[in-house]
Formats: sequence, structure tokens, C-alpha cells
Amino acid sequence: MKFETIKRVILAAIMLPFVFMLIEGVVVIRASVNQYRDLEKDRQFADVLARGGSIAATEILSEIGATRLYLAHPSSKTAADMQKSRVTLDDERLAFYASLPSRDTLDEGLAEELSILSLAYSRIVAARSAVDQGRYVGSDPGSIYWYAALKQLAVVDALSPLISDPVLLEKSNQLMGIMLTYYGERLITGIGGRYLDQGVSARFPVELFVQGKVMIGEGMDHMVFHSAAPIVRDIVAYLGRRDQVKANAITDAILAGSRPTPAVSDVWAAAQSERMTFLQQKMIEAARDIHETGENFLTRSHLHLTRILALCAGLLILATLVMVLAARGLRLIDRLSRDRETLVGELRNAAQTDLLTGLYNRRGFEFAASALLTQAEHGSRWISVVLFDLDHFKKINDINGHDAGDAVLRHVAGVARQNFRSFDLLVRHGGEEFLALLPDSTPDDAAIVAERVRLAIEAAEIPLESGEVLKVTASFGCAGRANEAANRNFEDLVKRADLSLYAAKASGRNCVVSGPVVPAQEERRKTASGGGFDSRI
Ligand code: GH3
Ligand code: MG
Ligand code: MG
Repeated sequence: MKFETIKRVILAAIMLPFVFMLIEGVVVIRASVNQYRDLEKDRQFADVLARGGSIAATEILSEIGATRLYLAHPSSKTAADMQKSRVTLDDERLAFYASLPSRDTLDEGLAEELSILSLAYSRIVAARSAVDQGRYVGSDPGSIYWYAALKQLAVVDALSPLISDPVLLEKSNQLMGIMLTYYGERLITGIGGRYLDQGVSARFPVELFVQGKVMIGEGMDHMVFHSAAPIVRDIVAYLGRRDQVKANAITDAILAGSRPTPAVSDVWAAAQSERMTFLQQKMIEAARDIHETGENFLTRSHLHLTRILALCAGLLILATLVMVLAARGLRLIDRLSRDRETLVGELRNAAQTDLLTGLYNRRGFEFAASALLTQAEHGSRWISVVLFDLDHFKKINDINGHDAGDAVLRHVAGVARQNFRSFDLLVRHGGEEFLALLPDSTPDDAAIVAERVRLAIEAAEIPLESGEVLKVTASFGCAGRANEAANRNFEDLVKRADLSLYAAKASGRNCVVSGPVVPAQEERRKTASGGGFDSRI
């Protein structure tokens, strides 16, 4: 398999699981973000519910009470108390509006209920100035507060469908149930009390009474679904008490048209008043419970946020780690690939190089020579060969040892490399014999180069390990022919150079002998017939 392919496979092996993990991470983070949003939304609703419930259960009723007290007994003390209750109601109202989600996120129904509620509060503001201007002497502003409280209930009711948390929804229903019951009871107590106070001739306001009864019924309907809730169980137990059952019977009797005796009326009024105090207390408890649920949501949403951040950080660390690993893996593959190429190059060189001299061996020479000859066909007309052999080399071995012989061979190879031309091809032809292929060179050129090498070898002082210095000579044979595409085999040429070398040895060694110049077509024929030598340098 190619290294590029391996690289891709490794990259895919690292990246694929990582991409899946990344997708999974993003899905988990998205789900967490959605959960966080729901929690935040419910927390906000819990806040709105708790504040709305608290206003209806406490602040509006306090201001009615304080205003009635002031109207009945105007004094600086009652005026101050009334003023204080107004400030408290206004503060709570402001906090209630501030806790509402932004208007554009609310549905139409809720937005309308909120507008009506604002209107109801502006009527309270108008009533306050009427009270301050003394226009309420002898009458009661209760109905204006009453209306605002009912609208506050309507807003709480309209919020219910927007709540997604089941626990919060249950608590919201309980609060709504208690508030409806309380306000129904309050209507009946107020209307009934006034009717009984007014004497026999008074007309019984049956519609308001029925309205109160309907509200109580609705309140009970809200609560009946949560009969297991402790607060509902408390209320049911309370209403089942003997005095409360008796008060209900009196209420039914009044509604049926009978008029109780003053003593019975007192019993009824006392039971009703106690019931309202109890229910008001339960409203406050329910609103507080919702507030605590909201606080709980806040903690959970913070936890969620921390979880999301931790997930993001984890994913980021993982991504960085995978990237670093992938980068390291790729670098390793690159290095292995480079090492491999170097190794292959070295092996190829080793296969083509003579280990002792560093020159081409025969195999490497054949490879390089064939490339060089092909190139030469296009440019040059001449090609020459120089064959040279060390003189009496056997003696060097015999006298100085084989290692010294090796050192001599190495040194001579170096001298030859320096003195042939850079484009000449040099090979250790065997033993102490070397061959050079000289492209683009006539036999005369070759003889000149050979002579230069010969002189250099003769002049060279070869240091041995023993500290001794040796001097050697070599004999040279040259041959050349016209280069041609038809004859790439230059064995004939080598043979002729060999004959020249033989002639050089025969004529006393340490000299250069150049063979006759043979035109390409005639070369084979002449070589076959033995040839001749025409010059000795
Ligand atoms: P001539 O001048 O006629 O060439 O005499 P010569 O002694 O050089 O030739 P001969 O063929 O008699 O001996 C060549 C010697 O070279 C014999 C062989 O032991 C030695 N030889 C060949 N290859 C190596 C080598 O790689 N290392 C060493 N140290 N000696 C080698
Ligand atoms: Mg020799
Ligand atoms: Mg030899």
C-alpha cells in the first residue's frame, strides 16, 4: 500500500470516530441548552406566579384593610398605615411587571390579561386620590381592589398553559384553586354580612352571592386534582371541621332565602372570618412554595449551565487532543516515508557501488553507462574508454599486507576521481584494474586525460596505517570510436583498450598507450583480426 494511502487510512481512522463524537457532543449540548432554556422559562414563570399570588393574597388585601380603617377612623396614624400599604403594593406591582417575560414572547391571551390588569391598577390609583380628596366618605372602595385582585387571578390563570414543568404546573393550579376559593368566600362573607346587617327590608343580592359560590366551586375544581398535596389536604380537613360545615349550611340557607337569627348570624360571620384568615394563610404558603420552587429551578439551571460549559470544555480539549494526535501521526508517517526513501536510495547505491573504493561496480557502471550512451547519441560523435591497471600490485600486497593493498586501491581511486573530468564515468573494473568511459571524447582527448591521471598516480604519496608512505604507478590503455545508435555495446571498445593496456604493460609499464582510431562500421571487423597499436605516450 502506498504511503499516501496509509496516510489517508490513518487520518480517517482517527477522524471518523472523532467526527461521530463531535456530532454526539453537539447533540448533547443542544439538548442541555434546550433543557436549560425550559428551566429558565419555568423559573421566570415561577417568579411571576409567586409575585402575582402574593399581591392577590397579601398586598391588595392589606391596602383594602388599611383604606377602610382610614375611612372609618381618619387620623395621621391610619393615614400613615394606608400610605405604607400603598407603597408596599406599588413596589410589589413593579417587581411583578419586572419579572414578566418580555411582551413579544407572551401569547396574545396573556398580553390582553396583562393590559386589563394594568387598567385595574390605574383604577386603584384613581380610587386612592378619591380617598385622599375625601370623596369616599360613607362608601367603600373595596370593589375596585376586588376587581384588580380578580384580574391578578386571571393573569396567574393565563400563565398556566405556558408552564412546562409538571411540578410547577401543579403548584400553580393549587394556588389558583386556593385564590379562587378565598375570593369566592370573601365575596360571600362581604355580601352576606352587609345583607344581614341591613335588616329585614334589604334586598338580597343573589347574583353576587351566586358569583361567590361559582368561584368557590371553580377553586375546588382546581384543587380536586391535587387532593394528595399537603396544602389541599389541610384545606379539605379544615373545611370538614364541624363549625365550618355549619357555616356552609347557614350560607346555603341564606341563599335559599331564609334569614338567620342574629346569634346564628354571629356564628356564621365568625366562622367565615376565621375561614378567610385560614385561606389567606394558605394562599401565602402556596405563593411562598412556588417561590421556593423557582429558587430550586435557579439552582438547577445554574447546574445545567455548568454542565453545558463543562461539556463544551471537554469537547474542546478532546478536539485539540485529536488534532495533536493526528498531526503527530502524520508527521510520523512523513518521517517514516522519508527514511524509507533514503534507505531505498542507500540500498540502490550500495548495490551499484564498490564498497572499497566508492566507485561504481560493474553493475552500477552498466546502468549509468547505458543512460550516458543514450544521451551521447544525440550530442556527440565520439566515445572513448580508458583502462588502467596498477603496476606490480601483487608485490605491494606481498610486502605490505592485504590491508595496505586496500589502502592503496582506495587512494588511487580518489586520485583518479579527482583527475578524470566530472562527466567521465569511473568504475572499479576488477582487482586493481579501473575503467573510465569518456563521453564526447576522441581517443586523443582520452590519451590526454589518461596521461594526466597517470602523472597524478605517480606523484601521489600514499600513507599507510603503519606510518609508511607508498608510491605506485599504473599503466593505461585507451581506445575510442564514433558513437552510434546502432551499436550501444562497447565491449569491443573495452577489448581494444585492454589490448592497449596490455601493450603498455609490455612496453615497460607506467605509460599510456592509445589504440588505432577505428571508424564505427569497421570496428568489429578490425578487432576480430587483432588490431594494432599506433601510439605510446
Ligand atoms: P602487473 O603489473 O602485471 O599488473 O602485476 P600485478 O602484480 O599488478 O598483477 P597480478 O595480476 O599478478 O596481481 C594482481 C594482484 O592484485 C593479485 C591480487 O591479490 C591483488 N588484488 C586484487 N584485488 C585486490 C583487492 O581488492 N585488495 C588487495 N589488497 N589486493 C587485491
Ligand atoms: Mg597490475
Ligand atoms: Mg591486473
